[in-house]
Amino acid sequence: MAIQLVEQLKYLDQKHFLHPTTSIEEQQTYGPAAIFYEGNGIYLKDLEGNTYIDGMSSLWNVNVGHGRKEIAEVAKEQMEKLAFSSCFATFSNEPAIKLAAKIAELAPGDLNTVFFTSGGSESNDTAIKLARHYWILKGQPNRQKIISRTLSYHGVAFGSTNATGIEGFRKFTNSPDPDFHYVNKDSAEELRNLILELGPENVAAFISEPVQGAGGVNVPKPDYFKKVREICDEFGVLFIADEVITGFGRTGKNFAIEHFDVVPDLITFAKGVSSGYAQLGGVLISEKIHKDLCTLSRGVLMHGYTYSGHATACAVGLKNIEILEREGLVQNAKVMGEEMLKGFKVLQQKYDFIGEVRTFGLLGAIQIVKNRETGELFNPLLSPIAIKEMTKRGLILRTVTYDQDTIVFAPPLIITKNELNEMLRIVDETFDYFKKKLL
Ligand code: PLP
Repeated sequence: MAIQLVEQLKYLDQKHFLHPTTSIEEQQTYGPAAIFYEGNGIYLKDLEGNTYIDGMSSLWNVNVGHGRKEIAEVAKEQMEKLAFSSCFATFSNEPAIKLAAKIAELAPGDLNTVFFTSGGSESNDTAIKLARHYWILKGQPNRQKIISRTLSYHGVAFGSTNATGIEGFRKFTNSPDPDFHYVNKDSAEELRNLILELGPENVAAFISEPVQGAGGVNVPKPDYFKKVREICDEFGVLFIADEVITGFGRTGKNFAIEHFDVVPDLITFAKGVSSGYAQLGGVLISEKIHKDLCTLSRGVLMHGYTYSGHATACAVGLKNIEILEREGLVQNAKVMGEEMLKGFKVLQQKYDFIGEVRTFGLLGAIQIVKNRETGELFNPLLSPIAIKEMTKRGLILRTVTYDQDTIVFAPPLIITKNELNEMLRIVDETFDYFKKKLL
């Protein structure tokens, strides 16, 4: 690509494009880090001729990898036939009906009804509103409080922002909703105590990611969700599992909550349902709640997005799930996740600035510490510098710096052993560079 065109695009980007979750200062100083134009499998290419391993599946979502022609074909066919029609007022379409049924088949327990959205934030707002609405219908309108965990991330719409435990997202604006409360992410006991303190009659729902993603790939203790389920049952609080990252195979099962042998009342999903080929998300609702909605609801359900049940997005979702199943990608996530952990452990042996390493399926984290014994961190933190060095070497990862110095991984579920080794080789080369040059 001609240098002039790239420079022109960079200029237009800085002038006209306010980027999501981006340092404005960085964008205005340096322009876009890369302008991607093509993707194939686990790889992305930019306009300057660089190729990168997409070690984060872009935003934890491109589970089936880039450049899937059969998804493009399905989208084209559906658009030509019927791109979109309304699902308000009982109108429906074939892809939406089939996708709802397919997701119900994959979901654990009696989670059998789907409300569609265009993404994760809308899904969590919907779940929160459905929970509160449910309690109004049940004659307990005071049950409006929502409890979530520290370091959780649930999105940036109003409800999902308020539910997000990472404080920076809530502080982006003022007037936080006083009906949102937070408990230490590792303590079921604290959840119990908070419900008692608030009064169970005031609490609508508890929301949690089975494995926290943006908060640092934080894996709960094996019995955490059993305890959560018991506490929610004891006090009649609804349990919402946010599977926006973890759903559709990322952790080696269709839904990550299945690892903990627990069935939530609602599951929110997005990302992996379409692998990013269309903007799609939704909420799975238990049979019990659906039955109550059916018997108690009068008039119109006053909640719906224009794109709820979008025909093209749902056709894409169906094809994406077909690929996940046909290629055994859920199982591959499990197997490659185990390989990734082995690779992390080798690196941990080699570099004494690696603290904890963890994986859960194809979610991974490497913590960086100055001192393993004390847990002291580098100043400035190393992981933001490290991921920039990795980008230069052809690997895109992400960093988490809220109360830690961590590099996170979420490669596409199609990754092969060789590709995984190549990813780890770049991590190794970068760490070696730090050891020799900087530390
Ligand atoms: N929930 C979780 C666990 C997420 O990781 C995200 C996004 O990263 C969201 C919700 C919000 O999803 P979206 O960005 O599609 O609105």
